[in-house]
Amino acid sequence: MLNDEHLNAIPFKKENTFCFDSESFRYLAARKSRIDFDEYQKQEYFNSWNISVKESMRLLNFIQRCEQYRLEEWLSPRKAALDIAMLALPLMETLRLIIYNAKLAEAKSIANQVVLNSNPIAIDLCTRCAQTNIVELGPFWYMQYRPPVLRTDTSQHRHCPTDGKHFFIESIVTYELIGLPAGLKVEQWQSSFRNFLFKCDRLVHYLRQQKLPVQNDPFQAILERFLEEEQEISQIRNIDSTANRRLCEVLNSIKRIRQENSQQLFVANENLSIYELYQIIDELTAIQTVKKQVDIIKTSR
Ligand SMILES: [Zn+2]
Ligand SMILES: [Zn+2]
Repeated sequence: MLNDEHLNAIPFKKENTFCFDSESFRYLAARKSRIDFDEYQKQEYFNSWNISVKESMRLLNFIQRCEQYRLEEWLSPRKAALDIAMLALPLMETLRLIIYNAKLAEAKSIANQVVLNSNPIAIDLCTRCAQTNIVELGPFWYMQYRPPVLRTDTSQHRHCPTDGKHFFIESIVTYELIGLPAGLKVEQWQSSFRNFLFKCDRLVHYLRQQKLPVQNDPFQAILERFLEEEQEISQIRNIDSTANRRLCEVLNSIKRIRQENSQQLFVANENLSIYELYQIIDELTAIQTVKKQVDIIKTSR
């Protein structure tokens, strides 16, 4: 297990292994319940108590001799990959939020803005077993995931395959149109979109360089899912999906933009240290809509 966690530097020896006998604690509990023991049993418990005392002393002495550990050194590419994987959905939802608002601004609908809400969810759920509603969002329609209604459905997710095509839903994201201007011009939304996506791609660029045995681009599957959702929405009759088609154009352009970003980072030979990487991660996590989702995901784990 220690090897799996890449903590190979930790030895597993008598020197750093400590034995605490449960007998001594059981003796205390038994005495408290006024249970009596014969002499032989008492002697056994005393011995085991003494051993545990010696071991405690040895543990405390050992800890005293240990060098202080600098916590930042725990930052590893592997941890970064896990953190980025957790951030993937909150980041992509935020990217989509930016697109919604950019499209509103383009349509001169500047008195309103789309906001994102994130709600905790009590059961295991993925995009395969979740139920969906198509919900109106100003000029848009969007697919809202929700837990199964029936209690008997709660174990549904156990039957879901883990093929990377669908992903775990750890917070229920809903969008809402509110009558409050966002105060950004079209060009500002567009550059916000570009900058945000570029930062995400810097994370992916870093992961690719590490050659880890994990998925390098956690955003790709999510973006594909967004497109599938649009595909489903476009097939619904009797709804006006003009605005969704405009949204879809942007979603479709993301692949090309990401290729350009990746190329640009490659040519620039960007080689971030883990500290620089975490600066970007911290910047992204500080964005309110990302933070809201991350907080919920962290408490659900
Ligand atoms: Zn699944
Ligand atoms: Zn599932």
